[in-house]
Amino acid sequence: MALIITSPLRGWAAPLDSVPDPVFAERMMGDGVAIHPLDDTVCAPCDGVIVTLHDSAHAVSLRSDEGVELLIHIGLETVALKGRGFTPLVAAGARVLRGDPLIRFDLDAVALAAVSLITPVVVTNAEAFTITRRTIDRAVGACEELMALEPVAQAPRRWSDDGTVIAQTVTLRLPHGIHARPAARIAECARGFAGDVHLVLGDRRGDARSPIALLALGTRLGDSVVIEARGDDAEHALAAMVALLASDMGESAAVATPAPLVATPLAPGQIGGVIASPGLAMGPVVRIDRSAIAVQREGAGITVEREALAAALVEVGAGIAARIATGSSQVAAVMSAHLALLDDPGLASAADARIAEGTSAGFAWRGAVHDQIDILRATGNAHLAERIDDLIDIERQVLAVLTGMPANADAAPPGAILVADDLLPSQLVTLAASRPAGLCLARGGPTSHVAILCAGMGLPALVAMGDALDAAEGGATLLLDAEAGCATIAPNATDSTAFAARITARHARRDAARATAAAPCHTADGARIELFANLGSVEDAVAAAAQGAEGSGLVRSEFLFLGRDSAPSEDEQHAAYQGIADALPGLPVIVRLLDIGGDKPAAYLPFAAEENPALGQRGIRVGLAHPELLATQLRAILRVRPFGQCRIMLPMVASVAEVRAVRAITDRLRDELGIADPVEIGVMVETPAAAITADLLAAEADFLSIGTNDLSQYVLAMDRGNPAVAAQVDPLHPAVLRMIAETCRRGAGAGRWVGVCGGLASDPLAVPILVGLGATELSAVPGFVAEAKAIVRSLTLAQTQAHARAALDCTSAAEVRALARAFAETSFREVGA
Ligand code: PEP
Ligand code: MG
Repeated sequence: MALIITSPLRGWAAPLDSVPDPVFAERMMGDGVAIHPLDDTVCAPCDGVIVTLHDSAHAVSLRSDEGVELLIHIGLETVALKGRGFTPLVAAGARVLRGDPLIRFDLDAVALAAVSLITPVVVTNAEAFTITRRTIDRAVGACEELMALEPVAQAPRRWSDDGTVIAQTVTLRLPHGIHARPAARIAECARGFAGDVHLVLGDRRGDARSPIALLALGTRLGDSVVIEARGDDAEHALAAMVALLASDMGESAAVATPAPLVATPLAPGQIGGVIASPGLAMGPVVRIDRSAIAVQREGAGITVEREALAAALVEVGAGIAARIATGSSQVAAVMSAHLALLDDPGLASAADARIAEGTSAGFAWRGAVHDQIDILRATGNAHLAERIDDLIDIERQVLAVLTGMPANADAAPPGAILVADDLLPSQLVTLAASRPAGLCLARGGPTSHVAILCAGMGLPALVAMGDALDAAEGGATLLLDAEAGCATIAPNATDSTAFAARITARHARRDAARATAAAPCHTADGARIELFANLGSVEDAVAAAAQGAEGSGLVRSEFLFLGRDSAPSEDEQHAAYQGIADALPGLPVIVRLLDIGGDKPAAYLPFAAEENPALGQRGIRVGLAHPELLATQLRAILRVRPFGQCRIMLPMVASVAEVRAVRAITDRLRDELGIADPVEIGVMVETPAAAITADLLAAEADFLSIGTNDLSQYVLAMDRGNPAVAAQVDPLHPAVLRMIAETCRRGAGAGRWVGVCGGLASDPLAVPILVGLGATELSAVPGFVAEAKAIVRSLTLAQTQAHARAALDCTSAAEVRALARAFAETSFREVGA
């Protein structure tokens, strides 16, 4: 009679070949089935005994009463989570019955953190049992049949043995010990020899051919493991095993977190991180953990559950709308994206269909959201990870209303340093009301929604700090230096006092800078440098004016276009641009034409799926492909009065033809509107193509403005939205600086001014370099304008030029930062660093 192995989870059963990890897909671990989980509890797939339950509780193995050895591995590379999000419900050695819960995991947190949630269920002694039937390519419920097995009559292994055992000890370099993947590789290697190989750790001894026996050794990094071999190929087997076990099997690279951007070596006790929002802060650590929200599967009736879901969606929608109404432009932009997701008819109908099958509203909503997440994840597009975050965010908010559980920790004492593995945008918006002093995240990237929100709030933040952040215990004091890119946990009294003095001096300098903010900006020797602000709303414009902004070098008009079902009308756009112009009376306002596509999708402009969205339909390419959209925006800008205050800027330009095309359309529209005067049209330099042809572009345009955010990603060939490389996308990289230098040289040669509107203009260390390279306009975040003016005023042009030349000769971004920090210390300490 066949042995039945039931599914340990509810989910979608898929062939093992579909697992994106060769250890499973190539059957190194054994044969089986993979499940895309929809539930958070792994239960026993048969009666048997737990053989191993890894320390980090991401994998469990058991032996059935008939001798079938099974491994259930929740997600891929989840060993690196070190147990975060997993709760073991049994221990090794326990006897279990089919259906008994073994491990509970936080579906949201693990989905967010893991490479994939796909969960292989593998028969590891596949030589003893063959799978005669398997459930694949369809939904499977927990405890429903997954595989049917038959025992295989095994031919005795033939190997000659004179009883001699040879042995060698190796020190394990595997960061997480022998977990599933290394175990599979070791077993595969051992099976390549006729003889017998065992691994011994203390009093534990495991057959190297058996992945489960290897897991049961419970090894850790640094353990001394004895390899014993016997049989006539023992010497070869031993040599091969020693070579394999003495290596890290590629595991260190697999778990490495991105190298933080730290120019100066870290002192003992310091942790490095990537600066997501600059500033200094000190305060007590408050850890923010996201607990799972459990939902019941069974519904209380279709009508009841439908009504419950509808009411929850309305309640969550009202909460988000309130945050849009009261938040800054950045908060409103992110919250609008959430509202659009909440209103998505596809999500609602998928949840409704599940309710119709008898499940509860919460269960149905979670299932519908996770189906959507699986689709996004399956695209393999790194940008979509950000959308997954947003989906998980609205999933939690709705479940919180349905279950009455709090969605997020919603308060921390004022002045706290928030420490978390990662944070959802809505969590940050809620927590910000308690006035925290700073934020440290183990994960995350500098271009995530959370990072953008922190920068907008002026909340100092470091991200991608890695597992070292585990050392920050609740209540400990933390010094957050989001200028140098490091944090100190539990500092000594001397360090604390010095840091507090630094913060006080910094505040005093900022206040002094604000006191003189209104005056125009010149270098100490009289060179005019215009200090503008980047804006997304009238509210930003008001804040910028108060900081002494001399105009706006970048109005991000996409804030009007994103997170809605249809494009804004000409009148709506006109009102928005006029409002900004009115808030900056008599000052230039540079409106960037719609910059969507790539990482900024809009629902009403469907793009064909693109393998490389960052290299596809973006920026001005979108406008030229949708002439009516472009013309509507141009008309709205041309109608702003007084005429000439608003200028026009083209995003993502790659060729002269694009500038000519937009100018021709603008001239035609001017004629139609009866406007005789010309309007200034500028070009954003965000592509290497634009930088290197700046002279040609300058011949067609009235000004050039360098977008260092995109220019950096395209010069370095590193996706600014991909957390795996985001830490290295530093615009102070000498390659980017050389592109900026070239742009300034070519632009000035053609008689046009060149400015910088990318994030680099808001970095105090970069301001002197940009001026020295030839930028005569800087457009920064409103909160930095006054300080930037003070820095420029304290330096002569010659000083900045000498400093910029030295920066161009540096060999790395880290070297440039070290140089810039030293320059700040000696040249503008009284106003800057
Ligand atoms: C830039 O690329 O530097 C820029 C200012 O544009 P955005 O960040 O909006 O892409
Ligand atoms: Mg850009």
